[in-house]
Parts: sequence; C-alpha cells; structure tokens
Amino acid sequence: MSQTFRAADGKPLRMIGISYDFTGRKLVETELDQHRHHLEELVEARTRELDSAKNAAEAANQAKSVFLANMSHEIRTPMNAVLGFAQLLERDGSLSPPAREKVATIMKSGEHLLGIINDILEMSRIEAGRVELRTGPVDLHNLLDDLAVMFRVRAEEKGLSFTLDYGEDLPRVVMADTGKLRQVLINLLGNAVKFTKQGSITLIARAAGTDRIAVEVRDTGIGISPGELGDVFRPFERTRAGEQAAGGTGLGLAISREYAHLMGGEISVESGEGQGSCFRFEFRAASAEAAPVAAETGRRVTALAPGQGTIHVLVADDNPTNRFLLREMLELAGFIVDEACDGPEAIAKATSGLPRIVLMDLVMPGMSGIEATRILRDTLPPESTAIIGISASAFADDERRFLEAGINAFISKPFRVEELFDVLARHAGVAFETEVIQAAAPVSSGAVDLDLSVLPLETVRELGAAAGRLDLREVREIVARFDDGHPILYAGLTRLAAEFRFDRIVSMCESTTTGNVNG
Ligand code: ADP
Repeated sequence: MSQTFRAADGKPLRMIGISYDFTGRKLVETELDQHRHHLEELVEARTRELDSAKNAAEAANQAKSVFLANMSHEIRTPMNAVLGFAQLLERDGSLSPPAREKVATIMKSGEHLLGIINDILEMSRIEAGRVELRTGPVDLHNLLDDLAVMFRVRAEEKGLSFTLDYGEDLPRVVMADTGKLRQVLINLLGNAVKFTKQGSITLIARAAGTDRIAVEVRDTGIGISPGELGDVFRPFERTRAGEQAAGGTGLGLAISREYAHLMGGEISVESGEGQGSCFRFEFRAASAEAAPVAAETGRRVTALAPGQGTIHVLVADDNPTNRFLLREMLELAGFIVDEACDGPEAIAKATSGLPRIVLMDLVMPGMSGIEATRILRDTLPPESTAIIGISASAFADDERRFLEAGINAFISKPFRVEELFDVLARHAGVAFETEVIQAAAPVSSGAVDLDLSVLPLETVRELGAAAGRLDLREVREIVARFDDGHPILYAGLTRLAAEFRFDRIVSMCESTTTGNVNG
C-alpha cells in the first residue's frame, strides 16, 4: 500500500508507502502446504496399507476356513474307518467281554475326538457367517426328558443328584432348531457335571413371556471367579480352576452363545469362586400347533426285509479300507456287494451289472465321483440305479455339485451304519427288519428313577448276571421285557446299555438284591 504527493504541476514530490515483507509468510505457507500435501500422501498411503491389510486378513481368514475344512476331510476319512470298524466289532457276538470293553473305549474316544474336530469346524463356519437356523417343530418335554435320562446317569456316577424341573406353563411343541437347542443344553449340562465334585445339578425350564423360553442349568461346583466371568464365552478360553479340574477345548460356550444369538436369545452366567454356577439360556420359540413330534425311536437294522430279492450294491472308492468297511456293513444286512476302485471301473461295472445301488466316493484319483456319476446318469436307464454320494469333504459346495451330477442322496463321512441304512431306505427304497434299541416312551419330568426293586427279584438277578458278563445282547433282551410295564426303567436301562455302563447296571442290581435279602 502507498501514496504519492505531487506539486501543482503534477510532479511527484514524495511518496509514502508501507511495504510488507511476505518472504517469511510465503515460506510458512509453502511449508504448511508441503505438510498438508505430505499428510494427504500419508493418509492415502495408510489407507492403501489398511486396505491391503484388510484384504490380507480376509484372505488369511478364507485360507484358515479352507485349511480347516481340508484338515477335517483328512481327519474324518481315517476316523470313518476307526468308528466304522469299531461299530462292526461291537456287533460281533464272538467277541470276549474284555475285548468288547476295549472296543467300547475305541468308540468313545473316537467319538470324543470327532466332537472336537466338529467343534473347531463349527467355530470356523460361524466366523465365516455360514451357520443357519433350521427351524421345525420340537417336542420340548421329550427333549428335556431325554436329556434328563442321559445326564442323570452321568451325574449319579459322580455321586451328584440331578433334578429336572419344568412347569405346566412350558409349551410342549415349539418352533426351534432342535439340533442346536440340544447342543447348547448338552454343553451346559456337560459342563455342570464336569465342573462339579459334590452336590447337585438342576435343569429348570420355564416359559419367559410370549414365544420365549428360559432354561437354567445350576450346579454346586467349582464356580467361576468374577475376573473370569466375562471370558468364558470367548473361543478357547478356560478358567484357571476349570483347567485344573478337567480337560476341554474352551469352544463349547463360544458356540453355544453364537447359537443363542442365532435363536434370537442370549446366554448369561452368574457365578462366584467355589459357589457353583447358574447358566441361563433364553431363546425365541413360538409355540407350535403342530401334531406331536414322533418320539425318537432308536432302531437298529438287523437284516434286509424278506421279499425284495437279491439287492446288488456297487461300492466305488479308491481307498481299500473304506471299500472293505462298506462291504462288511452291507453284507451284514444281506446285500450282495461288488467293488470298484476308480471312476472308469465303476462305470464299467455299473453299466454291465446294473446294480440296484451305487455307493460313490467323491474324491478318487483321475475321474472324480462327480464325473463318474454324471456319465452313469447319461448311460444307465433312468430310475434303474440309486447313486448315493459319499464324501468326507466339509465343503457345502461339493455336496451341491454332487447332487447336480445326479446322485439320489449324500452321506458325509464318518457315518454311522444306521445312517447308511436310513439313506438306503429313504432314497433307494430298501426295506429293513429292525429291532428297538432306545426308549420311545416319554419319561415323566424330573421323576426318572432307576429303582429296580419294582421288578421281580429273579429278573434283577438275571439282569445283573448278564451285565456282569458284559453280554449286551442278553441285557437288551431282558430290558426289552420292561417296555410295556416299566417305561422309565426301560428308557434308563436302554441308555445305560447303549453306553456300555454294565458297571452301573451291575451295581444297581446288586444293591436291589442285597437290599431285598437283608430286608
Ligand atoms: P470346555 O468346557 O470344553 O473347556 P466351554 O466353552 O464349554 O469349554 O467352557 C469354557 C470354560 O468355562 C471351561 O473350561 C471352564 O473353565 C468354564 N466353565 C464352563 N462351565 C462351567 C461351570 N458350570 N462351572 C465352572 N466353570 C465352568
């Protein structure tokens, strides 16, 4: 800014001006500009880094899921052989009692291991958001009675008392995911028994407002310290006291809570160190008008039903152990079995022999089971042969592709022999003869009492002797006689026999007979 003073003729006389030196400001501005620019660059760079870190994390998570699914395939395949052969041995009448006991241990340990694998896999499925609810009518009373029979036995083995308590207001049939509901309750009850040394376990179920059910599992066990209460629902978390008391993976509660959330509910816990615990599980369950759900009638296939002629089955699997296992299972029931060790052989044998059923393994070197199925569907006369796909794959996609190729049904390994027969019955029209192995009769709430004194003394002696010889067949035959008059005893003893608890049966029989002699 400046001003000029002039003479009358207009010549400039002097000038006043103020001048600013902008150099400093310019410098500061430039510097600020550089900083701003640098900051923008930094933000961009960080955003890029975060983006790629996020992508890497997503890829790693995906890789983890794929890894877990693959590992589960690798573990399930040999597990299928272990459990399958153990099941076959279990049915072998010529086995000595000690050998039978060892087989029972193999079965138990195998199933335990499988449980752990399934938990790990389920957790990874939950993390990937791939778990869905399968809602249907559930008979709550039956479900609770069933769990009571199972856990009363386990609790009593540890000298704990067990009480089931559900009121009149508890709806009988509700809409819920029976598998998940059962799994949550088994986990809570299993923990209660596992972490309690003396006292009692109580299972309480109540209606909790409209369309909601609340179940409480209380125990008088080791409890959980206040500092650890928040952690027990996190995957792989176990309390210090819990670690010392028993083994476990620390996944059960994490899975249970995720299931509770899926069911529109929640699981919470109240506990204190040494003061027992109370786990409360609340979930949404609209009561259903549905017809009573058929009680679980565990039946065991004994043979093919007569009048069906010879039924030929072709087993296509590259693994000789798997082929042998299926052959043994099928021949036991009376099927005629042929084997193929790869896709082309399966096609050749199926097109020439026209078996009624083909059991097709998914993974075979060269031609996969899916490809072989596709070719068979194009060449075989329609409806002539049922193709059942079998796989240890944990990928839902594999099952879908197999179904698209034309299989009638899918079985995932490891499967129980009853599962195989069930699929053959439903999808290949095979009829079987069966025998009952589990109670169908409902057991009244909280009143499951294995008091054998109501039975004739001679029968109790007979039962005790059969259990003492570990003679499962004989025990089952004796227990089957109670089906009519003593449904509760029938249910409890059938369960004990199925779990090979001959020791419990013997001790119950002994205490009844001794009591009678003394009294
Ligand atoms: P797991 O029992 O297989 O270790 P869970 O997720 O079911 O896994 O339980 C996590 C942990 O929470 C247990 O290891 C135990 O420390 C603690 N916990 C669960 N239930 C109880 C209970 N009823 N009493 C005391 N501690 C419990």
